[in-house]
Amino acid sequence: MKQKNIQINSEEEYQAFLKRIPMYRSVLCRFTTFAISGTVHPEELKDFETALNLKNRKRRITFLHDRACDIIDQYNAANGIVCHYNSDGICEDPKHQTRKNGCCCHCYLQTSQGCPSRNLSCKFYFCDHMCKKFRPLTMKDIELLRMFTPSERQIIKENVFVKRETSIGLLRLGSYLLFCVYSIVKFYRIKNVF
Ligand code: SF4
Ligand code: SF4
Repeated sequence: MKQKNIQINSEEEYQAFLKRIPMYRSVLCRFTTFAISGTVHPEELKDFETALNLKNRKRRITFLHDRACDIIDQYNAANGIVCHYNSDGICEDPKHQTRKNGCCCHCYLQTSQGCPSRNLSCKFYFCDHMCKKFRPLTMKDIELLRMFTPSERQIIKENVFVKRETSIGLLRLGSYLLFCVYSIVKFYRIKNVF
């Protein structure tokens, strides 16, 4: 293994580093270990270092998926972004007041307690009602997601209504075409619950 030391001490250096991510995550750096440090964005640098040093695809994707979920959860907790339900389990959004569990009512996975899983794509979804009240994170806000290829990012954008394991599994496949085939099957399954 070859070691690459990266020092990032300014915003310009950080932006230049982000532009090099496609090369660092590619097969060209399969046998390179990264030591990344600096005075700007220390948490992000630590996450990039961890992800780049995970050479096993499954372990890398699982780390990225779960870490992005943690980042969203921390941001939402810090900014009071939480959906409120009344005692009957009905949320505030006027468009979702006919069934329990808000927007999750459309998902065949939901339980009476809400979501039984943790799916990154669902974490980005907020209804218009919530988006008017708050500013939830978008995919662009989470720079760590640059570790995914453009097709993988597109899968994250669209892959709601699945369990964490399926979400990670489809990212491991990394094929947008296969994802579309899977989505057609999923659509019929979702349609059956209406
Ligand atoms: S995002 Fe909107 S529709 Fe979904 S649970 Fe929250 S308030 Fe309800
Ligand atoms: S998988 Fe997504 S849509 Fe389904 S219950 Fe969980 S958060 Fe809701």
